[in-house]
Amino acid sequence: MERVPTEPPTQPTRCRFVWCTTEHGRTVHPDDETHRSAGVGFAARVREGGGRGPGVSTEVEVGVVRRDDDDESWVALEFGAGSSVAIDLAAARTLGRLLREDPDLMAAFDEDEGSLCAVRTSCDRDGRHG
Ligand SMILES: [Zn+2]
Repeated sequence: MERVPTEPPTQPTRCRFVWCTTEHGRTVHPDDETHRSAGVGFAARVREGGGRGPGVSTEVEVGVVRRDDDDESWVALEFGAGSSVAIDLAAARTLGRLLREDPDLMAAFDEDEGSLCAVRTSCDRDGRHG
């Protein structure tokens, strides 16, 4: 004998954003209804922009966020302990391009791999420029 379910399973409301993982309609708090992507995390050392020292090791998470009253989606960078920043999509696109193409960033990445100052030639072994 075939079993027929008496009630259909509760399904979350399908979101209009393909990247959204929020189970709309199943959340408890209105803030939980924010559209959020799954996010991607990676280990990083972070510090304030004007800070010094080795920074703090943490997990950085990058994802897309859009609140119900937003007119656009944002790329959120979360640094743990409630510290985060969000940039608009155009700025995130520019940041991605700069990380791949900016000569100074490329030189810094090269330095990190052992070829100190690939672009600037007037610095000493510690990377100080004279
Ligand atoms: Zn959503």
